[in-house]
Parts: sequence; structure tokens; C-alpha cells
Amino acid sequence: MAFTKKTVRDIDVDGKKILMRVDFNVPLKDGVVTDDTRVRAAIPTIKYLKEHNAGIILMSHLGRPKGDGFEPELSLRPAAEKLAELTGYDVKFIEHTYDEEAAEACAAVKPGDILVLENVRFLKAEKKNDPEVAKKFASYADIFVLDAFGTAHRAQGSVVGAAEYIPAVAGFLLEKEVDTLTSIFAEPERPFVAVVGGSKVSSKIGVLENLIESADTLIIGGGMAYTFFLAKGYGVGTSLKEEDWIERAGEMLKKAEEKGCKILLPIDNVVADHFGEDAEGTVVASDAIPDNMMGMDIGPKTIELYCDAVKKAATVFWNGPMGVFEFDQFAKGTEAVARAIGASDCTSIIGGGDSVAAINKFGLADQMSWISTGGGASMELVEGKALPGVEALLDA
Ligand code: ADP
Ligand code: MG
Repeated sequence: MAFTKKTVRDIDVDGKKILMRVDFNVPLKDGVVTDDTRVRAAIPTIKYLKEHNAGIILMSHLGRPKGDGFEPELSLRPAAEKLAELTGYDVKFIEHTYDEEAAEACAAVKPGDILVLENVRFLKAEKKNDPEVAKKFASYADIFVLDAFGTAHRAQGSVVGAAEYIPAVAGFLLEKEVDTLTSIFAEPERPFVAVVGGSKVSSKIGVLENLIESADTLIIGGGMAYTFFLAKGYGVGTSLKEEDWIERAGEMLKKAEEKGCKILLPIDNVVADHFGEDAEGTVVASDAIPDNMMGMDIGPKTIELYCDAVKKAATVFWNGPMGVFEFDQFAKGTEAVARAIGASDCTSIIGGGDSVAAINKFGLADQMSWISTGGGASMELVEGKALPGVEALLDA
């Protein structure tokens, strides 16, 4: 599925004023941006607009403000400063979003200027997509651009509001994210291997069911594997399990077989007697997990099996760690699979907050073809859902 919405390329931005929703929801420590990935990700569109003589007004949320006004530790100022540092552009920042001062600052924006507004979530009405908020945003500019992929699944004022009143198009990040994440369902190069892990079946059910439709092989790891074990009649000891989802897991195994999607489950596991940093791991076969032990990672034989499947793939989509990777002794499975994906020539697409954190922890980010900047939004796309932010844009 190619991107079906207009982008900044499809609209005349010369001399126009652009209001762009970006995702500058960056981690901060003592007022300093500790990971600038999201700021970097917005730069191609900002650069394009500046080079095409547009006046640029940027807005974003950051963190989880109460919505009752200014909170100094959640100001967007550090993100604006980071943008200036990374681009060398003169970036203005104003500690206002919705008031007369903000409106005046937007009115004063000239072609080539960049102005960053304060955190849009300092006002509660923003999250509800209040029409007053939408109208206000639309009054600031001639054109609305959505490049905040990370919030494109939220029908909030700054994401969809302005699109009701002024022409709305996508930025390059949004376009690339949607294109890449939907490509795995359109015409993936085969074999297409999907790797899904993480804690719960219940939170990934839509993802799993949709991937079965497209993938040649679906690799399952992480805590969710144990609910599948129960569906197969294995004991799982004290492992993470979701009793209510056993039946659904069983149905999925059956459905996968009908669809010709091969499902791989762990054949061995690293188990421990408690969940903790100090827990000691032992390897056991999948049908021999002791009653008093819990599965913390995939075992060495499973690592071999999974890495082998990944090596043969032309396309890999990965979401969800293979084990409790936050503890080093249970990170081996996740790391080995990540390394195998990185080392292969396949097109590798990574989605999900913790999976991306794992890739970064192992220093493998530059070996992947695409790492999604949106956790929730990328999952909704992979579940086959439409994103409200994208829906609101002009059709191409
Ligand atoms: P993502 O954010 O990439 O979508 P999830 O949020 O679904 O991934 O899952 C990540 C979490 O799953 C991690 O915190 C990890 O510790 C946990 N996890 C993985 N394997 C296990 C396991 N065997 N038991 C308990 N938790 C697990
Ligand atoms: Mg997560």
C-alpha cells in the first residue's frame, strides 16, 4: 500500500505559513534532551519547508502534563534548543500556545522563520480535540502539516484539529513510517519472517492475527510464548501467563496452519525461580518447565532456530523482546535475534517501544533498515487500523 495522502511535496508552500505538528516528546534529564532521535526525525521536513521559503510554526506535546497550565519541567524549550543545535537554524521559542501572545508570535512569522510553540498538552482541551482548539490552531497558518507519527493514532486537537479548517498534508517522516509499516502487508519480499515477543498475548493479539495473514513464518518469544505453551498443553510453572487467552492462542495456531504461516515457538527456555536482577537462569526444554520456575528468556537451541529463520528471510518485522532483556542474564535471546537481523541483508523493520530500546541497548540501530519512531502508532498500523491523524489529511 503506497501512501495515499498528500505530502508537503504536493502542495505549494512557497511564502506560505505552515503549522506543523511534530513529535518532540523527547526524554529530558535536568532540562537536557537525553535522546534526540525524535528531533532528528523531524528535520528532513523542516529543512524542506525552510528551503522552499515557508514560514514554520512547530508544535508538539512532551510528557504527561496535568493540562492545567505551564509546568516548567515539561517545557518544549529544550527540544527547540536541540533543533537549533542540530540544524544550525535560528529557532525561536515562545512559552505560549493558545493565547494572544502565541497568536501574535505566529502572525509575525516570516518565510524562512522557525517558531516553536509551548507544549500543546498544557491545556486539557487539546486532548479532547475541542473545536475551539482546532480553530485556534488553524488560525495560525495557511497549511497544516502532520509529521508526528508517534501521535498520529490520537484524534487530538494538535493532530487532527486544524485539518478541518485549512489544507492538511503529511511530512516526510509520517509518509515513510506509514509506507514502511504497511509495506509488510502489501508486497513484502519473501520469505517474510515476523518476530513477535514482549510480555502479553492480549496486548499483541491484533498484531499477531494480522501478521499471520502476511508472514511466511511467525516467530514467537518473550512472556507471551507461555500462553501458547498452555494452548499446546505444556506446563509453564510460574511463567507469565494469561489464562483467558489460552483458547484464542490455540485458535491462532490453528489459523496460522490454515493460512500457511509457519509458527515457531521456543523449544527451550532459560528459567529462574523468581523475577529479579539477581535471579539465576537454568536451561530447560519447553515441555519440562518445573512447577516452581518461570521462563525468562528463550534458550540456546531456540536462539539457533530463530536466528536461522531470520537469516533466510528477505523481510523481517520485529516487535517485542524475546526475554526479560532489562536483566543482562536474560537478554541473550533478544540480543542474538537482534544481531542476526542486523547482520542479514534483509529489509528489517522494527516497531515497539521496548524493542527499539533493546536495539539501542545493543548498539544495533544503524544495522536496521527502519526503526519506527512511534510505539503505539506503529502497533496500530500493524494491527491494520487507520490512524486518525493520517485519515484527516488531503487525499493524494
Ligand atoms: P514492545 O514495547 O517492544 O512492544 P512489550 O511492551 O510488548 O514490547 O514487551 C516488553 C516487555 O516484555 C519487556 O519489559 C520484557 O521484560 C517483557 N518480557 C519479555 N519476556 C518476558 C518473560 N519471559 N517474562 C516476563 N516478561 C517478559
Ligand atoms: Mg512496551
